[in-house]
Amino acid sequence: MSNTFIDVSRINQNLSRTSDVSPSTVLDILETAKKAKGLDMESTLILLQVEDPELQEAMFEAADYVKNLIYGKRLVLFAPLYISNYCKNDCAYCAFRASNSDIARRFLTQAEIRLETEALLRQGHKRILLVAGEAYPPGKDLDYVLESIDTIYSTWVDGANIRRINVNIAPLSVEDFRRLHDAQIGTYQIFQETYHPDTYKKVHLSGPKADYEWRLYAMDRAFEAGFDDVGIGVLFGLHDFRFEVAAMLQHIQHLEKTFGLGPHTISVPRLEPAHGAEIAMDPPAPVTDHQFKRIIATLRLAVPYTGIILSTRETPQMRREAFRMGVSQISAGSRTNPGGYGEEENAEEQFSLGDHRPMEEVIVDVMKLGFIPSFCTACYRLGRVGKDFMDLAKPGLIQAYCLPNAMTSFAEYLEDYAKPETREMGYEMIDSMMDDLPGEKVRQHVAEALEKVRDGHRDVYL
Ligand code: SAM
Ligand code: SF4
Repeated sequence: MSNTFIDVSRINQNLSRTSDVSPSTVLDILETAKKAKGLDMESTLILLQVEDPELQEAMFEAADYVKNLIYGKRLVLFAPLYISNYCKNDCAYCAFRASNSDIARRFLTQAEIRLETEALLRQGHKRILLVAGEAYPPGKDLDYVLESIDTIYSTWVDGANIRRINVNIAPLSVEDFRRLHDAQIGTYQIFQETYHPDTYKKVHLSGPKADYEWRLYAMDRAFEAGFDDVGIGVLFGLHDFRFEVAAMLQHIQHLEKTFGLGPHTISVPRLEPAHGAEIAMDPPAPVTDHQFKRIIATLRLAVPYTGIILSTRETPQMRREAFRMGVSQISAGSRTNPGGYGEEENAEEQFSLGDHRPMEEVIVDVMKLGFIPSFCTACYRLGRVGKDFMDLAKPGLIQAYCLPNAMTSFAEYLEDYAKPETREMGYEMIDSMMDDLPGEKVRQHVAEALEKVRDGHRDVYL
């Protein structure tokens, strides 16, 4: 195997060293983790392997503590928008794989993208994750994606538009990344799927994605092209989760060392059943619910300032439990087929979803759990991205912005989209959170901003 920053033998050595440690060692690690300065690989691997229920509970509490310290009680909401399922890769786990002739290939025209965006705006969404398979539709090139971004940003419904588009499309060359960056997107996101080189080879059978290193160095090219915010992830279920998390830490360390900046977000997709993808029905390294919760809590403690994204692949129950373990962003009301928001049937979806609830139901649930749903896009719009964001996030200052902006953006949602009973519940929550704001001056600013929202002003943020 070639020489990359993923050091397989070092991970394996650490794995064998960390499988059996005393409870006091675990408790010491949790104390260190609560300082929110992150953890090294050895401590991370120890936490990932904690089986004792009491120690696990202590770990979940520590993760909740750190998440609150950094982000407060807010959960950012977004929805994916699939623009095309054309793909030239053969990923053994995905329904969009080139060899799956059972699905109809489809890409959205700009008019259809506008309709999908309108449907999402009517639900109250302000953030979209644009997703596509790795092939431009017939006769198209990168311009198709750039035009789609432009279409989404320029679609308005009742005075509202999408304020941040994150993008999950195949890795590009530095030159093409520059063009994507110029389209004013938020985070560029791509998952390595598995960092384990041999497993990677087994599940990526053909196409450009079969090149492990091209994908591994995608974030390097994105940073070189000028991106500030990138999102990484692993598709859990393909290889041993402990190896994957350790390798993800090596990826983060590599980015920090090379560019002075780690990823903005980490996604934690778990393999879900997908049509025409046997491996997805019977994952080679399944991750149990218990292990999954440990992964999320450990990540929150190991890289405290990084956003953790949980999608609707997971069931409502798992999502509820994961919120308190450090998840900071969730998708809601999602469809994973192109054209899914305008259609009754979910034909040609990429994989099965675990959470089918409409957005408002998710919002009510999130509130009942004590979290405030946030549609905030302020940091990105004010240029608080990349290192500037991390400099704020690391000492916990982001709470002075995150919570106020969660409150104002949620108030907008309540005014414009919520049913009366949701609105009442939402404002009660907002009122109760005034005391959590850091200082009288911030409280005053937020009270004024909320008044503006009630008076009909929109896009009010601090
Ligand atoms: N085609 C591009 C790629 O593969 O990077 C970008 C979009 S792809 C549609 C988005 C992600 O879906 C993949 O990175 C993969 O992790 C995830 N995915 C694919 N099949 C899945 C499955 N059966 N269950 C859960 N997630 C899956
Ligand atoms: Fe194509 Fe992405 Fe699915 Fe692989 S995961 S088959 S690249 S859409």
